[in-house]
Amino acid sequence: MNDCIFCKIAAGEVKSEIVYQDDRVCAFKDLNPQAPVHILIIPKTHLEGINSASPSDESLLGHMLIVGRELARKNGIDSTGYRILTNSGKDAGQVVNHLHFHLLGGQRLKPI
Ligand code: AMP
Ligand code: ZN
Repeated sequence: MNDCIFCKIAAGEVKSEIVYQDDRVCAFKDLNPQAPVHILIIPKTHLEGINSASPSDESLLGHMLIVGRELARKNGIDSTGYRILTNSGKDAGQVVNHLHFHLLGGQRLKPI
């Protein structure tokens, strides 16, 4: 996607604080953190959101969760607790239309 900010981050065309990447995913610090640890985990390929994922993306989605879990461990919040979530669509407040999982922790999070 030409004008997608997260594609540009994954391609290294826009600067961000990348904390992890491999051949399939990229993880970087959220620009406007909502918790002491707020990291976004994205696929390197463009998917608009979870609605656009197909059964062939199952392995990718699982990988994104495992990367999130590992980043929680690396940031020392695995035992205190954390949340991994994705927003889909207007009512959930999705503003960037490139699939991303938020990893949030480091403080007591508001109950959903
Ligand atoms: P969502 O509401 O789920 O679409 O979340 C989008 C998130 O992306 C928000 O938490 C933004 O702060 C974050 N964000 C937007 N642009 C950037 C960027 N260039 N670098 C890092 N995070 C960003
Ligand atoms: Zn994209």
